[in-house]
Amino acid sequence: MRGVILFAGLAALVVGGCADAGQDFVDGVPLAVTFDDLPWSGGTIGRTQILERTSILLAALEAREVPAVGMVTCANLLPDGAAIRRWRRAGIELGNHSSTHMDLNRTDPGTWIEDVRRCDARLHALTRDSIRWFRFPMLHEGETVAVRDSVAQALTAMGYRNAHVTIDNSEWVLARAYDLALREKDELLAAEVAEAYVEHIVEASRHFRQVARERFGRETGQVLLLHANSLASDHAGAVIDALVADGFVIKSLAEVMTDPVFLEPDGYAGPRGLSWLYRVEPAIDDDPWDEAAEAEISERFLER
Ligand SMILES: [Zn+2]
Repeated sequence: MRGVILFAGLAALVVGGCADAGQDFVDGVPLAVTFDDLPWSGGTIGRTQILERTSILLAALEAREVPAVGMVTCANLLPDGAAIRRWRRAGIELGNHSSTHMDLNRTDPGTWIEDVRRCDARLHALTRDSIRWFRFPMLHEGETVAVRDSVAQALTAMGYRNAHVTIDNSEWVLARAYDLALREKDELLAAEVAEAYVEHIVEASRHFRQVARERFGRETGQVLLLHANSLASDHAGAVIDALVADGFVIKSLAEVMTDPVFLEPDGYAGPRGLSWLYRVEPAIDDDPWDEAAEAEISERFLER
């Protein structure tokens, strides 16, 4: 493994791929922005607040012309689908994130696929669109090769593409801290968490750009995972601005996924939810950076 990484790093230097921002792409590194757990993730807020916060998030995306994709957990939909209608009106493409956020590690594949199918039917009834993206809950794609390949086949047969994530991160930990700060009306703490959110996502993006350079000898398209939460509605705009300033150019998920890295063979079957850049054969399923970042954030904001 070490030899492979060293060789890839050397190849990057030989073809001139040193660590400058986006030099493998003329306009910057293509980045797709995706939001999971629509209509709303975390916090105990009611319908009115969900709709208000959804509108604030969508306004931030619209102001920056971000062609995001929102992954819907259908069992959590408001009865009339009001939040989802707002996403659609804002021109945001929707994806299927299962009906009940069912964990493939804890379910038999048949039951799990039925859960996905229910969400597909619901989304189709609500939007009249055919839905083409699927995002695995927890990024759990099968603990064995047999399960992984059988659900992948079933999803393909339903017309779905796997909406891979490359910039996996621990934003959900910060989102919990942010919700607590809002509930306590602790504005100082909320501002501190917001600042950490922007820093953490920029760090995560730099980390996975480095992973791409080490593993593939070049920059690749990247897919960012965020959630539809209060942190995003107040600060996703600042995150996107920081990423653009750092060398990214925002593209649609469909465009980013034309990068050949997404056609590489999947080398991972196991319990973890991993960035696609780690899943590519040969898979890397332990990353000190990921774990250290999550531990540091938890310690700083949730254990004090
Ligand atoms: Zn989710």
